[in-house]
Amino acid sequence: MRISQLLRAMAPIVKTFDYLVIGGGSGGLASARRAAEFGVNAAVIEEARWGGTCVNVGCVPKKIMFNTAMHAEFIHNHKEYGFDVDLKGFSWGKVKDARDAYIKRLNGIYESNLEKSKVEKIIGHATFTEDGCVEVNGEKLSAKHILIATGGRPVLPSIPGGEHAITSDGFFDLKDLPKKVVVVGAGYIAVELAGIFNALGSDTSICIRYDHVLRTFDSMISEKLTAELERSGMKVCRRTQVTKATKEADGTLTLDLNTGDQIKGVDCLLWAIGRVPNSNTIGLEKVGIETDSKGNIVVDKFQNTSVANHYALGDVCGRALLTPVAIAAGRKLAHRLFDNKSDWKLDYDNIPTVVFSHPPIGTVGLTQEEAEKKYGADKIKIYGSTFVPMYYAMTENKVRCSMKLVCLKPEEKVIGLHMLGQGCDEMLQGFSVAIKMGATKAQFDETVAIHPTSSEELVTMR
Ligand SMILES: Cc1cc2nc3c(=O)[nH]c(=O)nc-3n(C[C@H](O)[C@H](O)[C@H](O)COP(=O)(O)OP(=O)(O)OC[C@H]3O[C@@H](n4cnc5c(N)ncnc54)[C@H](O)[C@@H]3O)c2cc1C
Repeated sequence: MRISQLLRAMAPIVKTFDYLVIGGGSGGLASARRAAEFGVNAAVIEEARWGGTCVNVGCVPKKIMFNTAMHAEFIHNHKEYGFDVDLKGFSWGKVKDARDAYIKRLNGIYESNLEKSKVEKIIGHATFTEDGCVEVNGEKLSAKHILIATGGRPVLPSIPGGEHAITSDGFFDLKDLPKKVVVVGAGYIAVELAGIFNALGSDTSICIRYDHVLRTFDSMISEKLTAELERSGMKVCRRTQVTKATKEADGTLTLDLNTGDQIKGVDCLLWAIGRVPNSNTIGLEKVGIETDSKGNIVVDKFQNTSVANHYALGDVCGRALLTPVAIAAGRKLAHRLFDNKSDWKLDYDNIPTVVFSHPPIGTVGLTQEEAEKKYGADKIKIYGSTFVPMYYAMTENKVRCSMKLVCLKPEEKVIGLHMLGQGCDEMLQGFSVAIKMGATKAQFDETVAIHPTSSEELVTMR
């Protein structure tokens, strides 16, 4: 042991808790507050802003910008619906100010909720010490149970000139709508942010490594969204990687591509090629907590890490990177540890997911490809439909809606639902209840349709 380690190990423990949570984001806050309901002495350590990724640089500000972009899309159709308005006068700055103010209010609400729940708030960067305690602001804390819910962060570009790029975090700092944007990445964050820029009028390109965006989604979604991005005016640069970014005298960027081409005059290069877990700055090695090759903390289905009384959940575990997943896992864990619900754990099957692309996507269960691989193609029956939602009956610009049901024979249990089109984001939640309950295609069909809606298609497919 080095002298510094020895001194740390010998330092007195300032405070002891029943439950010490590292990370005041979606999962950490939910778990600490639920634990406190059972009379537990809980504390949360947060190094940045209360609410974590979702509230500050994720779901919440992203959805506000999606809503902003939806206004722009509706404005294009206003004339056909009898209104005489156009995009003139849009102020990115105005939306940003209002959005920032809303998030500041949310930060305050999250903080006061902790106070109401009697969870102790600690601001600072937490690291483990060799003797299994947690050090923050030079003080040593110990706990019977420690939860790691430190989330993740965007992967930074490692190309020459990569410092000129922003990530999704920087998207929320942009003071103005860029004129010309290049988004690198094919995942959901890339398509969502590119869609916002495109709808609001930026000249938008998306550089993807292969031929389609969202390659892990059902092929119908992946192919149709890629086509729809192009139809909506976005430039989809297939099999294209940005290899260098050069800042020109006028402040714009020239991007070199692996194809030998260049994109010039770029105001904003947004890098969205994935996220990495915040696991390498907390001293996991000091306590021996195991991570996988990508740095995700390895947990079992009860969120136990490889070290007793140490748990992890949410994005730092690298599985189903979604706010409700982190929240649900955090609450279940609190019940298991402090409410005698010894078998409570989150079921990671059939987690519904929405992509706020243009149009939005809703998906739950197995993709056709996964289902065929798991059960054999002869056991799977696919129902599909593509149609023009009635909203577009009045408009020249028609954005189609596509839906697919993946069913397992012989009873045709619905094991996957994938859809892309206006309103699909709001349609999914109810259908995912049915799928979680094991509904069959016949039960879908027995449900009387709601007319005229797009969702009626899901109960009338043949
Ligand atoms: C652009 C974007 C859009 C998204 N959109 C959606 C969406 O629409 N729907 C959805 O469900 N999910 C969405 N997500 C994902 C969602 O935000 C995450 O899945 C969720 O926030 C994960 O929660 P968490 O508790 O694991 O981590 P986080 O919410 O990231 O919280 C971790 C917290 O730990 C803190 N921390 C880290 N290390 C330390 C340390 N050593 N000491 C003290 N504090 C520390 C961090 O500051 C952070 O506040 C989006 C993410 C991004 C980036």
